[in-house]
Amino acid sequence: MPDFVFSGDEAIARGAIDAGISGAFAYPGTPSTEIMEYLQDNLGEYRAALAEGDRPHAVAQWCSNEKTAYESALGVSFAGRRAMVSMKHVGLNVATDPFINSALVGIKGGLVVVVADDPGMHSSQDEQDSRVLADFARIPCLEPSDQQEAYDMARAAFDYSEKHGVPVMLRITTRLAHARASVATNAQRSPNALDKSEDPAAWILMPAMARKRWAALLGKAAQFSADAEESASLELRDASLGVITCGLGLRYYLENEGDWAAAHSGAKPSHLHIGRYPMGSGKIRRLAEHVEKILVIEEGYPYIERAMAGVFPAPLPVLGRLTGALPEAGELSADSVRAALGLAPKASAAKAAIAIPQRPPQFCQGCPHADSITALKEALSGEAEFFVASDIGCYTLSALPPYSAVESCVDMGASIGMARGAACVGQKHAVGVIGDSTFYHSGMTNLLDAVSHKTQLTVLILDNSTTGMTGAQPTIAPGSRMADLVAGLGVERDHIRVLEAHRKCHEANVAAIREELGYDGVSVVILKRECLEHLKKMRQA
Ligand code: SF4
Repeated sequence: MPDFVFSGDEAIARGAIDAGISGAFAYPGTPSTEIMEYLQDNLGEYRAALAEGDRPHAVAQWCSNEKTAYESALGVSFAGRRAMVSMKHVGLNVATDPFINSALVGIKGGLVVVVADDPGMHSSQDEQDSRVLADFARIPCLEPSDQQEAYDMARAAFDYSEKHGVPVMLRITTRLAHARASVATNAQRSPNALDKSEDPAAWILMPAMARKRWAALLGKAAQFSADAEESASLELRDASLGVITCGLGLRYYLENEGDWAAAHSGAKPSHLHIGRYPMGSGKIRRLAEHVEKILVIEEGYPYIERAMAGVFPAPLPVLGRLTGALPEAGELSADSVRAALGLAPKASAAKAAIAIPQRPPQFCQGCPHADSITALKEALSGEAEFFVASDIGCYTLSALPPYSAVESCVDMGASIGMARGAACVGQKHAVGVIGDSTFYHSGMTNLLDAVSHKTQLTVLILDNSTTGMTGAQPTIAPGSRMADLVAGLGVERDHIRVLEAHRKCHEANVAAIREELGYDGVSVVILKRECLEHLKKMRQA
């Protein structure tokens, strides 16, 4: 079959299409966004290829948030068809409730959850390792080491999910998600027929049924471990060092393996590569019996390393991120792995002679958020007390100079909740700043809390008609419905202000925000103007 040059994200999307996927759901988040973008560009072709007369239920949809995306995927599985839900690692926190519970239901159509972790926090608030959450849910997790494996594992994950009746996680990290390589593809499989689950006990997690489902899930663990064990590749070679690689760690290791061998009489280290979890212990034990020490190279948390080190001292040294042989935080690199292997740095790894000044990220020239934040700052000027809580979007950049306007950024939807909490205990002029997409994602429920408890709070919804930060994906609802939506949540019409986010309206906007800051209740100021990137994208379409 043809070769394509795919990023890891695209390889996974293609693998899902070729596995006969019927439903794909996601919320944008770097580094996973391009999975859905590829599906939306290519699933149409696939949809058209579905058999005549079949109900062409092949969809690829952005959703309000990761939880709703996950639940839609569960519905596809219940209906007997194959589904994929993709998200970034912190998105899985939002979807944790359906994620954990879906491990107990009787997955019918294969369900694959793709989670893209972001070690090094290139565009995230933390660098959590989703392998830990797969373990927490007691489900299998596959971790590709390159784009070809990303494609192959995406395909295989659907089969495995259906065979064992569980969701399967596919875990990738930023470099793999975005880097490109040649990928050979296979023939496209036909989608499953609609064939909904007829076993009520398998999908109704009332306690009596859930206990049985939990026991059944635990009963599958040994098989999951045995399969992971079988898939791991072990080569017993030089006895002075054993190397364990996981996922992408393999590539960093292979870049240096030859140099290590050259420095050690031509012998390569003994090597175990792990690409799926939960990992059994047989091959790890065989490696340990053969070598004097083990170096564990894994992107993310010291997950395998910690399991090996345990509570009691290991019978042989286990080196890795916990011991400081590799940095505990941030991304691995060929250079950090090289150092852990005891090799001298390569000339190319030397620091650049010229110190390049840091350039902090900024709003695009002419961004509507810049005008909104400038108006808010002026409205608050002269106030002795205020708290401006921000959310996650381009407007978070207003935490930096020259604006230095917002004071928090914790998680999606937190701005309104944090401002509300502070207001509840006496904070004057508590303001939540949130974008339209984030408001739909998880801001609305916090606004409902504020309305229900009559909190004195002002919310600025910066409505730029898109999810700008991740590349201008569409929001789930048109901005024209925003004011009605806010009113529907109980905010008084007189205190819902719709303004144009433009410098020509600056004086009027400052005055309107000031008025609402003085209101003893919940007020919402919607500042509207399209994101420039979104406009550009629309013109190119
Ligand atoms: S992408 Fe859009 S919202 Fe983000 S900074 Fe640029 S213009 Fe503003």
